[in-house]
Amino acid sequence: MSTILKGIAASNGIAIAKAYRLVEPDLKVERKGIQNSEEETKRFEEAIRQSQSELETIRDHAKKELGEEKAAIFEAHLLVLSDPEMTGSIKDKIKNEKVNAEFALKETADMFVSMFENMDNEYMKERAADIRDVTKRVLAHLLGVELPNPSLIAEEVIIVAEDLTPSDTAQLNRQFVKGFTTDVGGRTSHSAIMSRSMEIPAVVGTKEATKEIQNGDLVIVDGINGEVHVNPVPEVIESYKDKAEQFAKEKAEWAKLKNEKTYSSDGHQVELVANIGTPKDIEGVINNGGEGVGLFRTEFLYMGRDQLPSEDEQFEAYKTVLEGLNGKPVVVRTLDIGGDKELPYLNLPKEMNPFLGFRAIRLCLEDQDLFRTQLRALLRASVYGNLKIMFPMIATINEFREAKAILEEEKEKLIQDGTKVSDSIEVGIMVEIPSTAVMADQFAKEVDFFSIGTNDLIQYTLAADRMNERISYLYQPYNPAILRLVKMVIDAAHKEGKWAGMCGEMAGDETAIPLLLGLGLDEFSMSATSILKARSLIKKLNRSKMEQLASEALNKRTTAEVVELVEKAVSSQYSH
Ligand code: PEP
Ligand code: MG
Repeated sequence: MSTILKGIAASNGIAIAKAYRLVEPDLKVERKGIQNSEEETKRFEEAIRQSQSELETIRDHAKKELGEEKAAIFEAHLLVLSDPEMTGSIKDKIKNEKVNAEFALKETADMFVSMFENMDNEYMKERAADIRDVTKRVLAHLLGVELPNPSLIAEEVIIVAEDLTPSDTAQLNRQFVKGFTTDVGGRTSHSAIMSRSMEIPAVVGTKEATKEIQNGDLVIVDGINGEVHVNPVPEVIESYKDKAEQFAKEKAEWAKLKNEKTYSSDGHQVELVANIGTPKDIEGVINNGGEGVGLFRTEFLYMGRDQLPSEDEQFEAYKTVLEGLNGKPVVVRTLDIGGDKELPYLNLPKEMNPFLGFRAIRLCLEDQDLFRTQLRALLRASVYGNLKIMFPMIATINEFREAKAILEEEKEKLIQDGTKVSDSIEVGIMVEIPSTAVMADQFAKEVDFFSIGTNDLIQYTLAADRMNERISYLYQPYNPAILRLVKMVIDAAHKEGKWAGMCGEMAGDETAIPLLLGLGLDEFSMSATSILKARSLIKKLNRSKMEQLASEALNKRTTAEVVELVEKAVSSQYSH
């Protein structure tokens, strides 16, 4: 039967393919008595063999696609499987206690896990995690259920998941993953942001994708309207093929603007730059006519691994991006971990309010080794392009001063050691906490630039968790309160001769762009795939008229009034 799910359009485009569920199956185990322990042992051995061959395939694949380091984890899993101490204990249990293999496996594995976990040794603790993972795989074979193996995907698929962590998303193979849909999340959740930078159509927050979609179902992800069609009738498939074609045509039209600068119809210039998560995203920036990078979210370099990236590794990543952009500006944000971006290996305690907690610059100022390593890598890379550094989640002037002082110290040390460092690195901050927006006039005297992070600024101003779809009605980019804060920041920057950009998702939003142009925003940083569309929109807008529009919007009382005002103004601009 065909079904339609509604969700949030997270990434533009249309994808049609078979579903691949990235959902863990039910692996509950019951204790059952058995008659024939030999047969049961054989069943267990067969499950081990199947797991082994599966893991070998995954390991080889990971080696090829992700490198030796990422593949090592599967090597460790294979070692667990071939450990006679563990498999021996399980077989003994089956034989002596006459219990089913699932139960014997689970009991034995739990015992080993708790033994390793209680050791005061990081290496042993990691072995506990390996055993847990391997146990799941063998159990799945015994229970006859399928465990998802995303790294084995070898045909075009639509990923269906409850949520995708940023590291899940980063590991998806762009060649085969044509689209994705999730139960939870909003437009600014990081899975959505990643889908845009990977140029994969996505619909998030459908609430029931994992309930309604089975492996192999034919799925259409309509990332333009926020709809997911499950097993659609042939007419719907045909109409979506037409839509996809239409979308491709529009894209071709925008593509003509690729090498142009961005001017409004009355000749006011702005800069359109891209948000990226990894050096792999550079290609998308260039192909989509980006005039630089307005936000490099460096936390993705720290994810999907089990230890911090070294200074050299980071240096290489930053150098690749700077060289790839060939002298165009690259704004790199220092580590912004926390909120929905976790780093399990930092072993940070769970907090009641992670979005308001020990995160980003707060963590970096305390764990200075981690911070200094990143800063040194950045400073060393600075000679390879046009680097600007910005600090995330700045709430007070002192935080900025402290972070900048650490940066200066590291710079001085490197120079003393004879390392070349660029002497024209601009240092700015993200404005994503209301206190900083309100104090922008003071900050502007000390920083080189602002980049407004509306994803967080909106959530903190309206006290509405950006991940929570139940209160998504409060997540209001066009609320006059937000527009007023944005204006304060831009005006404060200009008064001190500094520039103001925006790297929150609002910067690429069609309804927001006319307002932001009118408010005087200098730099718009968005997912690369939104750039050409934004350029084509700005070309049609008259800057002076947008100034009037913005000042009217600031005096509206509701979001709805603002949206209505913009829609009227834009349609009348188009008709001229
Ligand atoms: C923001 O908060 O607007 C932002 C760009 O940062 P992030 O989405 O990574 O929190
Ligand atoms: Mg933020």
